[in-house]
Amino acid sequence: MTTAIHVRGLTKRYGDVRAIDGLDLEIRQGEVFAILGPNGAGKSTTVEILEGYRKRDSGEVRVLGVDPQKATREWRAKLGIVLQTANDAAELTVRETIRHFAGYYPASGDPDEVIAKVGLTEKADVRIRKLSGGQRRRVDVALGVIGNPELVFLDEPTTGFDPEARRQFWDLIKGLAAEGTTIVLTTHYLDEAEALAGRVAVIAQGRIVAEGDPATLGGRAAAKARVSWLDGVIETDTPTETVLELAARFDGEIPGLAVTRPTLEDIYLTLIEAPRV
Ligand code: ADP
Repeated sequence: MTTAIHVRGLTKRYGDVRAIDGLDLEIRQGEVFAILGPNGAGKSTTVEILEGYRKRDSGEVRVLGVDPQKATREWRAKLGIVLQTANDAAELTVRETIRHFAGYYPASGDPDEVIAKVGLTEKADVRIRKLSGGQRRRVDVALGVIGNPELVFLDEPTTGFDPEARRQFWDLIKGLAAEGTTIVLTTHYLDEAEALAGRVAVIAQGRIVAEGDPATLGGRAAAKARVSWLDGVIETDTPTETVLELAARFDGEIPGLAVTRPTLEDIYLTLIEAPRV
């Protein structure tokens, strides 16, 4: 296992506000890792410290083996940072924009290949200002990955997308992950974290309150199942047994049958509301 990001005992204050309060994080190379948390939890501060844009007060931080406060150009070229949409190049075409930024990197990818990877080949000669929101976001990702980064930071990548655009965007991110790129994602969408991330961390008040596989986070997999049908609901540890009993009672198909576990969102809401000392 190779570590991409190592954080121990990170703290950061803004005046009286303890924005980060003893945070530990370990992200492996090749992982897709999602950072979740309510507004003001400390996500941006954490990510900006990892990116080398903000100074910490204390704690140990290594990103691709380097302390971000001692960032070199060489180190920075290994990072891909996908910011919220920057529209300053709106009069340039997609291809012009990507080519221009490719020139900043020592080992940039081929602009046309990157354009294809983000699904914009047909829009390559269109001016950025004429693209839809989702298409612009793809340009942002293309700009984030044109330097062939080892590690990509994605900040709320699909805010404002319609469901179809979101699914397409997820496929794009999965493609990057399949190539071995480490991805750190912040998002407000729990379904997005679940679809993309191998592991998630929930931050509240500057600390990690839970971390793990989204399928098992916060005891999710061990939680009772809810068996519901047209005129009843049972919460049970043995849903299979319940379904068999119901099938016998209805002598076949159970009308409106659904078997569910708490969603990641249910677990998340419990985690961030838990009283803290
Ligand atoms: P998140 O990204 O999870 O919404 P932030 O990292 O932006 O959280 O903020 C964490 C806490 O630090 C909040 O209480 C926020 O108000 C405070 N904060 C963030 N940036 C600054 C700043 N530049 N100056 C003062 N307080 C800040």
